[in-house]
Amino acid sequence: MSEQSAKMFQAVFENSPVGLILVNRDTSIRDANAYMFNMFNLDQKDIKGRRFGNLFNCSVVSGSGKTCGDCDACRECELRGGMSSVLCSGISIPDTIIDHKFIIDGQELKKWFKVSASRIDNEGDFFAIVSFADITIQKEYEELLNYRLSLDMATGTINKYALMGTLRRLTAAGKEFTVALIDFDNFKAINDSYGHISGDKVISHFCAAALANTRKQDIVGRFGGEEFMIVFQGAASGMLIKALERISKSFQEACFRSIGIKPTFSAGLAEFNAAAQAETDVDSLVGEADSNLYLSKIRGKNMITSRGLTMSFD
Ligand code: GH3
Ligand code: MG
Ligand code: MG
Repeated sequence: MSEQSAKMFQAVFENSPVGLILVNRDTSIRDANAYMFNMFNLDQKDIKGRRFGNLFNCSVVSGSGKTCGDCDACRECELRGGMSSVLCSGISIPDTIIDHKFIIDGQELKKWFKVSASRIDNEGDFFAIVSFADITIQKEYEELLNYRLSLDMATGTINKYALMGTLRRLTAAGKEFTVALIDFDNFKAINDSYGHISGDKVISHFCAAALANTRKQDIVGRFGGEEFMIVFQGAASGMLIKALERISKSFQEACFRSIGIKPTFSAGLAEFNAAAQAETDVDSLVGEADSNLYLSKIRGKNMITSRGLTMSFD
């Protein structure tokens, strides 16, 4: 490289609006620009021979006394793997989104980057140039928006869209679970007799009762108007019926305290057993719960139906 090219490269390197590092063939850091240090709130430090994780306080190696690349977790590290493959194969990596945890100002924080890397061969030697565009703020905003989009604003439980996504994820992962589809009984009459505001309170009491009487791994969501779904993960049917009975009891007590009525609901269950039902899709699972709910309604309401068998709440 001529002296003029080297100067130009240095100017671009130092003034780049993204983080840049040069990585030696042994994966030690050869240089890092000021932007890179600013991203991690670090003063410019002595770079010579240091590894990426040690220089920028990767949460795996920071404080461990180990060298970046020597911990078990380093084998899975996408950043390290990417840099090594660029150095070994010479194939460039275009914009790739990677997240990684660092210790920044004494706290463990996840950062998201768009990373690009390529190898530069120079007078018999070679090194990799890696650029880091910090997209953490955009990613956090995206996560917040996704979370808000998955919520039913009136009750704070997840909505139908998020429920269906959850069911798809659970079936794809081969998890065992049972869904309970729930519809309030004679809710129109409650609205007509006590007003919509009281109707809304009934809905809130149900959600509170369902959340309080299910386990952390169970999921309560609003399927529509006064229809709810509870996803019981890996639960035996006896335990699940007991949970629905507890919900019914505390729902009625809360409604009685608040508006002097004891509303009821009907439920239809459908079980997903990965080994026996690998082919079952989410729509037919919900369809089965809906058919069982219909049986609870026509057989007298305030009941639970599972596999076509209907029982009353205790
Ligand atoms: P059934 O026992 O057969 O289910 O009778 P139902 O009266 O409950 O009938 P249905 O399920 O069709 O009625 C749903 C009613 O729920 C109609 C609708 O006005 C009311 N509803 C739906 N969402 C809300 C809500 O957010 N607030 C209130 N207050 N009412 C709602
Ligand atoms: Mg309904
Ligand atoms: Mg109803």
